[in-house]
Amino acid sequence: MKDLLIINPVYKELIWGGKKLRTFFGFDIPSDKTGECWAISGHKNGDCTILNGIYQGKTLSSVFFSNRNLFNNSSSLDFPLLIKIIDSNKETSVQVHPNDSLAIKSNDLGKTECWYILDAAIDSYIIFGHNALSKSQFEMMINENRWNDLLIKKRVKKGDFIYVPAGTLHAMGAGILVLETQTSSNITYRLYDYDRVDENGLKRTLHLNDAIEACIIPHKEPILDNLVENYQNATIKTFISNNFFTVRKIDISGDFNLAVDTYLLVTILEGTGKILNYSLKKGMSFIIPSTFDNILISGNLTLMISSV
Ligand code: ZN
Repeated sequence: MKDLLIINPVYKELIWGGKKLRTFFGFDIPSDKTGECWAISGHKNGDCTILNGIYQGKTLSSVFFSNRNLFNNSSSLDFPLLIKIIDSNKETSVQVHPNDSLAIKSNDLGKTECWYILDAAIDSYIIFGHNALSKSQFEMMINENRWNDLLIKKRVKKGDFIYVPAGTLHAMGAGILVLETQTSSNITYRLYDYDRVDENGLKRTLHLNDAIEACIIPHKEPILDNLVENYQNATIKTFISNNFFTVRKIDISGDFNLAVDTYLLVTILEGTGKILNYSLKKGMSFIIPSTFDNILISGNLTLMISSV
């Protein structure tokens, strides 16, 4: 029988986290310092379980491993994508992620990510890229603590989309809620953490050499697709479609027949609706297996769909 895989998320507490995952989505978060909801993950550091049907209670990684037919007969060793909802109540560290070839030494994949801004405080910003023109200039500005000269700040607002290829220096400023689609990797090289300490008075580890090696110098501004289509009671916006992932936002009012050409990772951002016999509500995440050819979604809702 064809069915969805409804996902039970995993939560992560972080020094920069907050409580917006509860106030915005109603998630049952562990504390008021919850930074991340791993909404769809088969990664070893936070493997989600399935909430429904014949795979109920099983981890996503085990279902992926044993039922390749549900996943377009993928030959990928690990479940390839990770969907997070991130509450940066305070600014996250300034960081960079390695590409696939640099990530091999950590026995993980490279990390390319993208952010859809769900909510942003007035005047909130991200750090995106840097002003150094050469590696030596980059190192000099770090050694001289010239963070304001080095880092590029960008204002962001609700509805913005930011593509962060591996090697791009980045951080979220305070007061931002983001839906992130990323390749399934957990390697972060932290370049700068504002000299913050945790509740035990300890600073988090920096990874200066790895960060400098992984960083694209000079910074390269990535290009988005931003294709908008209107059909069948829906507006479909494709933010990006490349070798790593395709990320689309779909606004539906009425009945919409979604074509399923591969397995799809779905998160409901707004509104309510129906799919098969399931009621859809804000914050719910599920996978539509590739065994479907198409599937009817009804209601007034906004959803994000990521796929490989
Ligand atoms: Zn990152």
